[in-house]
Amino acid sequence: MTDWTRYSPDEAHSGPDPRLGGGRLTIDLGALADNYRLLVAKAAPAKVAGVVKADAYGLGAAQVGKALWGAGCRTFFVALPDEGIALRRALPDAEIYVLNGLFGPEAAPAYAAHRLIPVLGSQSDISCWEAYGWDGETPRPCAIHVDTGMNRLGLRAEEALAFAQENALTRAVTPKLLMSHLVCGDEPSHPMNQRQVESFQAVRSAFGDIDSSLANSAGMFLGREFAFDLARPGIALYGGAPVSGMANPMKAVVTAEARVVQVRTARRGETISYGGAQRLERDTIVAIASVGYADGYLRSGSSAGVPLRSVVSPGAAGYLGGKRVPVLGRITMDLTSFDVTDLGPHAVTAGDWIELIGNNMPLDEVAKAAGTISYEILTSLGRRYHRRYIGA
Ligand SMILES: *Cc1c(COP(=O)(O)O)cnc(C)c1O
Repeated sequence: MTDWTRYSPDEAHSGPDPRLGGGRLTIDLGALADNYRLLVAKAAPAKVAGVVKADAYGLGAAQVGKALWGAGCRTFFVALPDEGIALRRALPDAEIYVLNGLFGPEAAPAYAAHRLIPVLGSQSDISCWEAYGWDGETPRPCAIHVDTGMNRLGLRAEEALAFAQENALTRAVTPKLLMSHLVCGDEPSHPMNQRQVESFQAVRSAFGDIDSSLANSAGMFLGREFAFDLARPGIALYGGAPVSGMANPMKAVVTAEARVVQVRTARRGETISYGGAQRLERDTIVAIASVGYADGYLRSGSSAGVPLRSVVSPGAAGYLGGKRVPVLGRITMDLTSFDVTDLGPHAVTAGDWIELIGNNMPLDEVAKAAGTISYEILTSLGRRYHRRYIGA
């Protein structure tokens, strides 16, 4: 009899028992650390922070945070104060910035309690931090976000200049970092990039000699003038291509695989999956895998010929037995069909694993097949995979 009590999640394993789950994720913390070191070499002499918002793009902020710390990273960015509190438990000595700002007077004490540094992006954020902020060695430390074109968070340039003048007199808060965010960083020739550098430089001189930060992953590949003092990469750490269309210099960090639960033969002329949307053009060996859109294997990656999207994309594929195996019909919540005919009869059996993302199925191609970006694929992976952390 199998002893199901034998599996207990720990630092290196989480999610369901690997024998009981439909999918497994392998997260290579060694590759992550290598990616960090590559970016450090690229940015030097600027420093490199780690952006670990949204649970490190779905990969596990505690494990990712510790691996980055081990590689020398000392500054981290999260989106929410709640994420900051979780990261603080894993990294007692890290500098942690919260990108989405202060969540009002009710949240402000949590920043002080956990030594989280808010990125202040509006006048009301600034007033709130002046009233509630944390008085340590540095009174009310913060970053100031200046908007240079995104029109999302951040003071307008004229507001930032007015704030800098006033705060130089009152010293009500202590800005430790001035930051802005690129709008078109992954389009190297877009004129917006240069305009943002110039607007940012104009504001920067009003803030004295505090550190400044503009580049995300893509921005790090645009040239020296984008580096400033601190780069803020996220997706490149996790293996995503920093600039679309350019060869990807980053190592794959995530491997996602799905368990084959059944292999069947369908006849030419029959249809497959919901809606009968795909009719088979030949007798087809089909591997049914225990993965679906509930696992972030997005429905928009359903087979070509399935009318789901206005633009026809090639549809997703898996990798098995040295070959790409295309998705057939619609991807459903818990199950996906793959065409394994070309592997030959009896090549695939229940219990085999199909690679969905990994060295043979690059993350950015998986995203493209589903009409989206690598960021959305990673943050959609969900909680049903068994997760294994290697290379720590
Ligand atoms: C998410 C985010 C980043 C990281 O972006 P990547 O494109 O993943 O490198 C950097 N800065 C800000 C403000 C962000 O919101």
